[in-house]
Amino acid sequence: MLVKQNSSPKARVRRRAAEAVIVAVSALSAVAVAHASLLSPALAPLRASPVTVSIAPVVPVVEDDVLISFEEPVPGHAVVSPFGLRQLPWEGSGRLHEGVDISADIGVPVRVAADGVVIAAGEKGGYGRYVAVRHAEGLTTFYAHLGGIAAGVKAGLAVAAGDTVGRVGSTGTSTGPHLHFEIRDDQDRPLNPAMFLGKAFAEAGDLPLDKAIRYSGRVRMARVSRIPASKQALMDARNGAPIIVRRSTDAEDLAQAERNLKGLARDAAKAERIDGLQGLSIGPDGRPRAQIGL
Ligand SMILES: [Zn+2]
Repeated sequence: MLVKQNSSPKARVRRRAAEAVIVAVSALSAVAVAHASLLSPALAPLRASPVTVSIAPVVPVVEDDVLISFEEPVPGHAVVSPFGLRQLPWEGSGRLHEGVDISADIGVPVRVAADGVVIAAGEKGGYGRYVAVRHAEGLTTFYAHLGGIAAGVKAGLAVAAGDTVGRVGSTGTSTGPHLHFEIRDDQDRPLNPAMFLGKAFAEAGDLPLDKAIRYSGRVRMARVSRIPASKQALMDARNGAPIIVRRSTDAEDLAQAERNLKGLARDAAKAERIDGLQGLSIGPDGRPRAQIGL
């Protein structure tokens, strides 16, 4: 649901552009005054030393028609795991990593990437504590595994790029402190954030939506520093320890899990959202099994 905001991102950008122009005009006025005094012969003899005019740095005028621009959510910190197919040590096959992981210590501020409106703030499964923000053109950004959500951040709050919405943590299914950051299109499909961060787009047609939705078929094996407790059973299973598989009583969930393990990465990405599904593993007969919470 899109919450109507009082000040659209575009209007906000326009206002910033106007402010930038005012600063630039003030600087020019200062130069004009200085020149006027230099040209005045009456004032010249009174001057003991050369006049120093401090001129404000010229602020680049923002294009009036910027639709949306994206800033890094944790400035100065590196992406340690990119968008694309990825296999975690406890997983039987690769699945889509729907965002990027940015490594940072616990407590580092997490900033909104672009102007928008908060549409959700709370706790959800593997995401842990998270904040979701809706932007122009129905784009949504997600900030997950947060240690804490900033005071006052809740659905309906208008936010500007750079505003702090939370702190880095390791909540949810996480292998250590980092921010999991996602950008989704208006149909809730994950986009490659690398194609947006640090870039500004003048109009909807400039957004690299077609390119950003694609990913290579190559599966990267991820290295993790810590196995989350919730995944230990799966790790044991993969390491040859006897596995205990609780059979689902819900045939549909099991069928879904089997489809996921057959390599349908998109479906697999959604698997964690099946209610009660705790994980996936390979049974003694080599067939996939779903572990369903009872
Ligand atoms: Zn991630």
